[in-house]
Amino acid sequence: MDADQFLQLITQVLYVTIFVLTARHAWHRPDRARLHIAILFGMLSLIIAQQWATSLLHVTPGHFFKALSGSLMMGLPYLLMRLLSDYTTVTRYLLRAASLGLALSVILLFAIEENVRPPWILGFLVLYLVGFGLYVGYAFVHEARHSSGVTARRMEAVAIGTTCIGLLILMVPFQLGFPRWSTSLTLLSRLLGLASGIAYFLGFAPPAWLRRAWQEPDLRALLVKITSFPWLPDTGTIIQALQRGTAVTTGAAAASIGLWNETEQSLVFHGPDGIPLSPPPPFAHFLTTQVLAAQKPFFSANASHDDPQHTPEYRDQHIVALLAAPITTGERRIGLLAIYTSRAPIFAEDDLSLVQLVADQAAMIFENRRLMEEATRVRAREETARLKDDFLSAAAHDLKTPLTGLITQIEVLERKALRKPDAPVDINAVHRLQSSARRLSTLVLELLDVGRLESGRFVMNLEPIDLSQVLEECCAAVPLGQQRLQLELAEPVVRTLDRTRIKQVMSNLIENAIKYSPGDDLIQVRLWHEDLTVHFTVTDSGIGIPPGDLPSIFDRFHRASNVDDRRFAGMGLGLYICRGIVEQHGGRIWATSTVGRGSTFHVMIPAASTETAT
Ligand code: ADP
Repeated sequence: MDADQFLQLITQVLYVTIFVLTARHAWHRPDRARLHIAILFGMLSLIIAQQWATSLLHVTPGHFFKALSGSLMMGLPYLLMRLLSDYTTVTRYLLRAASLGLALSVILLFAIEENVRPPWILGFLVLYLVGFGLYVGYAFVHEARHSSGVTARRMEAVAIGTTCIGLLILMVPFQLGFPRWSTSLTLLSRLLGLASGIAYFLGFAPPAWLRRAWQEPDLRALLVKITSFPWLPDTGTIIQALQRGTAVTTGAAAASIGLWNETEQSLVFHGPDGIPLSPPPPFAHFLTTQVLAAQKPFFSANASHDDPQHTPEYRDQHIVALLAAPITTGERRIGLLAIYTSRAPIFAEDDLSLVQLVADQAAMIFENRRLMEEATRVRAREETARLKDDFLSAAAHDLKTPLTGLITQIEVLERKALRKPDAPVDINAVHRLQSSARRLSTLVLELLDVGRLESGRFVMNLEPIDLSQVLEECCAAVPLGQQRLQLELAEPVVRTLDRTRIKQVMSNLIENAIKYSPGDDLIQVRLWHEDLTVHFTVTDSGIGIPPGDLPSIFDRFHRASNVDDRRFAGMGLGLYICRGIVEQHGGRIWATSTVGRGSTFHVMIPAASTETAT
């Protein structure tokens, strides 16, 4: 046996083996595509069997057998077209043209004997074989480009197989035209035949280990990426990433995650963008019972057949094969992961374990996410509770001191009055009473302001005011200790603002400057304008604000770490209210400070403030 015969034998044995394997597949799990694959290799095996029979029996095949093996050969493009239609959409006209071509070839092969056949018949037969062969090759290459993972690899293999067959047919005229090279050309065509057999086998009926090897790089990439999914911004983005990763790894057209909604007692499936699908996909109800209730993975090669109630929807949405696995952690049912495709043979039952693996990872991600969200909620609750506690104790503490003073002074006054009803009124005591009552009133007003600010009821009475005059009034009204106040004013600056509220901001900043400058410091207050924008600053050389506190001093209840209640009474609400007022006027308030050197508070109110405020 020479190399050529050996190669031919190997190729033939390979084709017959593939036929046996694909026939077994089709027998155990019959579907359209598997049947077509088995018929294709069965047909090629028949041609081989015929060749074996004639060489073993040493007979020259007659017209009938020659026409029969020729017809089987001509069935190849037709069957390839049918297989193509199992994997992608093929127009009805092309399918019809392929069957017409086959019918005509068979008639010609049987009707006209080989030795009287006119050359145009050979031309027609070659054209039919090569033309459809090339088209199928091109279509599979196109399909491979638009697919991913296993599907792309399988399409590439089929495209290679078809190209080999096309080349093999194209070599026939060369073999006839160049008899000198006949040996090498025959060897080449045998090699092409072998290559096409292997490529078809890998493309149409890849063994499970090969599918896994093809899936491995994508799966590995997905598993590496998955570890960072719990930190994605929201559940929708996590779902989107998981769905995309699963579809790419399995080569499916799409994947959809259904999350169990306890209140609605139903699965909420998500679209490719991670947004809940409305209306739900046709398989929603079916998979709830098949996968969620049974808690095991499920494969359907033909969803319309297995769930006939929704056949029209499956057809409309091009859903043929369906594969799903439950997403569960321990006892908690989270939902399920479904993948589907418009072509049955893209994935198989072997992929169940793969999808279950991704579903288990998804369960871990959702569980992590739930725990993270729970932790954030608990932290937020604790923070709110802490703020409330802080608020209550600060409010109680701040109200208690002036209130106690007030009560004590009233009691002293009462005792004096009872003892000496005719004695003159103690005016100093009345002043102290007044100051305690004022402090109480300020605190209560601050609390009321916070309430208003937060419920959006911070009503403003806008009117034209002269800011220089307002500032002068404020400076005159604030009680000074040892500190000195230096006022730098521009000429009258008239703007339409809320007089009471602006005065409140100015007083608060000046009072703070006094409060937090315990020595005989100088406090500078400046007011100026640049075009229509008004600027106002208060600078002190007091205790200053630590850099870590600077960004938060305008937050509710925030007091810097260098102040304590004994030395500096306060609730941390004044600046919060000031910021609310300034922002409602369309302006900005900020502070610059150095610990131990002092602080400057800046207020800027732009020209457009009136419109903003209105
Ligand atoms: P309160 O003065 O009642 O604590 P504020 O909201 O007016 O509340 O101020 C918030 C915090 O900002 C103060 O507790 C203090 O730590 C800091 N602060 C405000 N003004 C000054 C200032 N002029 N110098 C230093 N720290 C200041």
